[in-house]
Amino acid sequence: MSAPTFDLGKLHGGLRLPSEKSASTSRPIIEVPLPGQLVLPLAQHVGDPAQPMVGIGEKVLKGQLIAMFDGVIGAPVHAPTSGKIVAIEPWPVSRRRGDKAPCIVIECDGEDRAVEQAEAILDYQQLAAEDLQQQILRGGIVGLGGAVFPTAQKLMQAVTGPLEHLILNGVECEPYISCDDMLMREYAKDVLQGGQILMHALNIASCLVVLESDKPEALESMETALTELGDERMVIKQVPTIYPSGGEDQLVQLVTNREVPSGGLPSDVGCVVQNVGTAAAVHRWINQGEPLISRITTVTGDGIAEPCNVLARFGTALEDVVKVAGGYTERAATMIIGGPMCGKSVNTDAVPLVKATNCVLVLSELPSVGAEMPCIRCGDCAAVCPVQLLPQQLFFYACADNEAKLRDFGLIDCIECGCCDLVCPSHIPLTADFRNAKARMRELADEKARAERARQRFESRNERVRKERIERESELATQKQTAREAGPSAIADILKRAKKDTKPMDEDP
Ligand code: SF4
Ligand code: SF4
Repeated sequence: MSAPTFDLGKLHGGLRLPSEKSASTSRPIIEVPLPGQLVLPLAQHVGDPAQPMVGIGEKVLKGQLIAMFDGVIGAPVHAPTSGKIVAIEPWPVSRRRGDKAPCIVIECDGEDRAVEQAEAILDYQQLAAEDLQQQILRGGIVGLGGAVFPTAQKLMQAVTGPLEHLILNGVECEPYISCDDMLMREYAKDVLQGGQILMHALNIASCLVVLESDKPEALESMETALTELGDERMVIKQVPTIYPSGGEDQLVQLVTNREVPSGGLPSDVGCVVQNVGTAAAVHRWINQGEPLISRITTVTGDGIAEPCNVLARFGTALEDVVKVAGGYTERAATMIIGGPMCGKSVNTDAVPLVKATNCVLVLSELPSVGAEMPCIRCGDCAAVCPVQLLPQQLFFYACADNEAKLRDFGLIDCIECGCCDLVCPSHIPLTADFRNAKARMRELADEKARAERARQRFESRNERVRKERIERESELATQKQTAREAGPSAIADILKRAKKDTKPMDEDP
C-alpha cells in the first residue's frame, strides 16, 4: 500500500510566539511518586459527570472502574492505584476557580495492586469498528490535548459520514507546554500503535502524524518508530511553528487544505483529529489493559526550580507534582493550569491533577497589560485571527449584548486563542469578552431549551388529562345507558361511583 499524500494549506493569521520550552525538555520525564491520597473529580471530561460506583470504606484496585456516566456523552473514571475510598465529597478543582466539585477520595495503600483487565487486552484487529469504539469507551479515554472530549464518542460521531484521514496532533504550539514533545521523544511507538488502533476504529487507512519543525528530537524518535513498525498507511509531517496551528480546524486546514465549515467538525471534510497523547492512551488500554489513570504534564515557568515533564497519576495534588520539579522559586507568584494563552489561573495548589492538566505553569508575575483604551479600528486583531473573524466588530456587539449580530459575525467559531488580545494596541481584553459573551449565549440557549421542555411537558400533560376525561365521560355514558335499562337504584350507584372517580383537572397528578 502506498503512503497517503496531503495537499498542504496555509494558516490564516496566527502569531510566532517565543517557545519557552527548552527548560522543561532538558531532562527525561520524571515519574511522580504515589501520594498518600488521590482526589478524583467525577467530571474530568466534556459531558455528563460520572456517577460513583463505589462506597465509602470500599477497597479498590488500580485500574478498577469507580465511576460511570449515564448520559449520552461522558467518560468513566478508574482508580489510579489500589487503596480505600475514604470520601465522596466536593473538593476544590482547577476547572472552576474557587469552586468545589464532587470527587472520590482514595487513601492509597502503597501496594499499587492492579485489577485484572483480561477483557481489555485483545486482538483489536478481530473486532468490528463499532465494538472497538465501545471498548475504547470503557477505558475512560478523553482528548488529552486539553479539550477532554470523550474519545470513543468522537469516533462514533465521526463514522456517521465518509472519512479519509486520521490526523494525530503533535502540534503543541502554545508557549511553555512540552508534554506532547516529550511523549513523542520517549513513547513514539505507543503513539503510532494508538494511531493504528484508531484507524481500525474509524475504518480508514490513512494516518498523518503532525508535529512542528522545532521538535527535531521528537521527529527523529517518531521516524525511527515508524520505520520499525513499517506501516505504510502512516506519514509523519512537520509544519511551521505558528500559534495556534494546533487547533483542530486550523490543523486540518494546514495539512489537508480543507476548510472545516463554520459550526462544523473536521469529520465534515473527511478528517478526525486526535491528540498524540490520546493515541498513546488508546494503545495502553487496548494493547496493555491500562485504562486512563495517568498522564504526562509539563511543570514549568520561572516560578519552578527545575522545570520538567512528569508522569503523574490523576488525583495527585499539584503541590506534590511541583515538589518533583524542585519546588517553587522565591519569585513564584501565579499558578496557571495550561499555557499562558489559553490556561486558567488557580489560587491553590491543593487542587488535583486531572485528565485535562497538560501544563502547570508557575510565573513570577503575569505580563503587565496597559490600561484599556477605546478601539481605534486599526484592524490588527482581524489580521491575526486564525478563524478570519472580525474581533473589533464582535467586541462592539458583545458590549451591546447583541446576540443576533454575534451569531451573524461568527462568535461561535472563535477558538479563544488570544491572538487578538496580544496585538491590540488599545489593550482591550477581547478574548475574555468573547468567552463571557459565549457563556451568556450558552446560558440563554439552555434557558430556551429548558422552557421548551417545560412547554412540551405541560402540553402532553394537558393532552393526557383531556383524553382521560373523554374516556371517563364515554364510560359514564355507557354505564348510564346500561343503568337506564336496569332501573333507578343502579343509576344512583353509578353516579356515586362517577363522583368518586372524576376529579377536577387541576387535581390531576
Ligand atoms: S480569540 Fe477568537 S476572535 Fe480572537 S483571534 Fe482568536 S479566534 Fe479570533
Ligand atoms: S486591534 Fe484593538 S484597537 Fe485595533 S481594531 Fe482590533 S480591537 Fe480595535
